[in-house]
Amino acid sequence: MTDRLAGTTVLITGAAGGIGAATARRLAADGAQLLLADLAGDAVQSLAKELGQAAVQVDVTKSADIRRMVDAAYERWGRVDVLFNNAGIIQARPLLDLSEADWDRMLSVNLRAVFFVLQAVAKRMIRQEPRAGSDIRGKLIQTASIAAFRGGTPYTVHYSASKSGVMSITRTAATVLAPNRVTSNCICPGIVDTAMWKQLDEEWGEIEGWEIGEAWKRRIAPIPLGRAEQPDDVAAVISFLASGDSDYMTGQAVIVDGGMIMGN
Ligand code: NAD
Repeated sequence: MTDRLAGTTVLITGAAGGIGAATARRLAADGAQLLLADLAGDAVQSLAKELGQAAVQVDVTKSADIRRMVDAAYERWGRVDVLFNNAGIIQARPLLDLSEADWDRMLSVNLRAVFFVLQAVAKRMIRQEPRAGSDIRGKLIQTASIAAFRGGTPYTVHYSASKSGVMSITRTAATVLAPNRVTSNCICPGIVDTAMWKQLDEEWGEIEGWEIGEAWKRRIAPIPLGRAEQPDDVAAVISFLASGDSDYMTGQAVIVDGGMIMGN
């Protein structure tokens, strides 16, 4: 752990879950001040209590909740140095069976909400003073996925489409906001050991007639670095992306996947 985020204010969505919670722990250990936001109100409150940080229950698909969340951050600190725009969902469905409702739900959380959270924060970020010792006003960090680069699995066409969209939003925001000295990057994890992958393993296994754990085992086996990704592997890179050490990076999709899609 470092003190490289001492005094840095960070808003995290999806903060009660695997990657969001690991990032909250890591950034708190690095000295950041956090506002943790999640649909799972009890879980996010108890994590915030444990870390001595603040929490807010939100559904990021609701514009009134986004407003309340961003207002809470600005009322608290008068600025947001870093947004970790991370909340997301998964679902396994064969491509030919995917319904309009499946599509709409996925895109509503993983793409539409990511954009409107980014927009709500960016509108305020561009008006705040640059961070101490830096010419950067703030940093937007989205969670995409290696699924943004290639079809993730045969059963997650809507998830992959949403993550390609997150990469696209990230890059456009980087271009538009660079003159305001706001950076925008996304992180692309691989196969991370979280509740999301447990759900995917179960749903994928059910479609194939596999036992619990089989889809997971098959996806882990070919990873070049020889193990599944842990939420802390992602959190460590978010700590860097949230820090002044990444001030000259914008518009990037940073892959952290144990070497799964080298060369793409
Ligand atoms: P997770 O299910 O453990 O955590 C996701 C969190 O988002 C949960 O706490 C959930 O309550 C919250 N959330 C869901 N819908 C919400 C909503 N409408 N409003 C507010 N909060 C909401 O999953 P995770 O693996 O930690 O995923 C975090 C992010 O990482 C997601 O965007 C996911 O797509 C991405 N990702 C995960 C993996 C992986 O292998 N687990 C790989 C690549 C990318």
